[in-house]
Amino acid sequence: MTCNEAIRVLLVEDEAGDANLVKIKLRQTQSGYFELAWAQSLNEAQKYLTASSFDVMLLDLSLPDSEGLATVHKARTMAVDIPIVVLSGRGDTDFALTALEAGAVDYMVKGDFGYDGLARTIRYALLRTEMEARNNLLIAALEAAANGIVITDKDATIIWANPAFGRLTGYSPEEALGNKPNQLTKSGLQNEIFYRDMWADLLDGKHWRGELINKRKNGNLYHEELSIAPVKNGAGEITHFIGIKEDITERKAMEAQLQKLASTDSLTGLFNRRVFLEQLEQERAKVARLSHYSAVLLMLDLDFFKRVNDDFGHATGDAVLKAFAEIARNASRAIDIPARLGGEEFAILLSGADKNDALSMAERLREQVAATIIDHRVGPVQITVSIGAASVLADDISGEAVLHRADAALYEAKDRGRNQICWFDP
Ligand code: GH3
Ligand code: MG
Ligand code: MG
Repeated sequence: MTCNEAIRVLLVEDEAGDANLVKIKLRQTQSGYFELAWAQSLNEAQKYLTASSFDVMLLDLSLPDSEGLATVHKARTMAVDIPIVVLSGRGDTDFALTALEAGAVDYMVKGDFGYDGLARTIRYALLRTEMEARNNLLIAALEAAANGIVITDKDATIIWANPAFGRLTGYSPEEALGNKPNQLTKSGLQNEIFYRDMWADLLDGKHWRGELINKRKNGNLYHEELSIAPVKNGAGEITHFIGIKEDITERKAMEAQLQKLASTDSLTGLFNRRVFLEQLEQERAKVARLSHYSAVLLMLDLDFFKRVNDDFGHATGDAVLKAFAEIARNASRAIDIPARLGGEEFAILLSGADKNDALSMAERLREQVAATIIDHRVGPVQITVSIGAASVLADDISGEAVLHRADAALYEAKDRGRNQICWFDP
């Protein structure tokens, strides 16, 4: 309804004198144009309501067919979505107040309408009803939201939460009230600095957004994307915080899975060439930076692997590659980086190792490979491996330089008859 449209008023009043007064007041008013229909009983009001629509009802409580509070109750059920303003007799204000509880939006004392009071009361009643309807709509939207939404006071105590908050955390909105979100879902996996930085932003009036690991009521951990907005009053003081929570556990798992796919070789599960080169570069930088730190690169290539494929088929070849990868993985320490660089070519970066460590580790690995009988459908298969080894040097300008040296040593091992280890010697 805009200001220019007529406001349709249903006046329910059995006293002709009182009704007349209302008519006169509404005709005189400057604030808006009113169209008035006059019913002298609830029965008659019902007929009007059935025949046309109204914006507001002015209701006298003493009618021929109804008396007192019951009049409000009945009128409420007749006109569910329009505001009712009660017209009460003088000195009846206590009673008029209970009428508000019964569903009236306001009351006026008959004869006390003042200059423009009645028109203003009607306008205000309409506005309030409109705002309430709007509020209910917004609440319905928040209730239906897929994200957990929580409203706290300025001390972070929860005053409202939606059903999705309950589904996310395991605490129903009713259970959550009066608690702080952190008391309910803190996992202990974020440190104090994390929360301190968050609060610094929020108390500064800034919107905060981040990811954290929280704990559900049943004790399960979950990944949450949390966005918190401070709400300020007219004076610029923070009065509330609104938190929006999204469960990103599945997304995190997917990201981890993708990360794994992108960083490992699908046949053997070892790191792939790209990740290996990144790690090698980091190790090279560490050797350059720290004077007493050393590292060794082993390049490994299976001997006469083509024959495995030729004699037993490609599938057996694959099984052999997997078996070899398993031996290499088991021979490596947790800090080593075993990788499949491609084909039947592997590498192991031995972090913090020196020449002696590396040679004994490589020898153990070589022996183990030679001693392993790989059972496959076509029968037992045995292989050997040649290994080239080279130190990462402080003046290497790139990881590639180390790879070249280890490769040269590997070539040497092949040249000398295979199934052996060669240390790069310039
Ligand atoms: P050597 O290294 O001792 O000189 O001999 P080799 O027979 O191992 O030499 P080469 O490097 O020429 O052969 C490697 C073979 O590895 C060739 C290729 O068909 C096979 N190969 C590469 N990648 C795969 C794979 O993913 N699966 C299987 N089954 N075979 C592969
Ligand atoms: Mg090869
Ligand atoms: Mg080979």
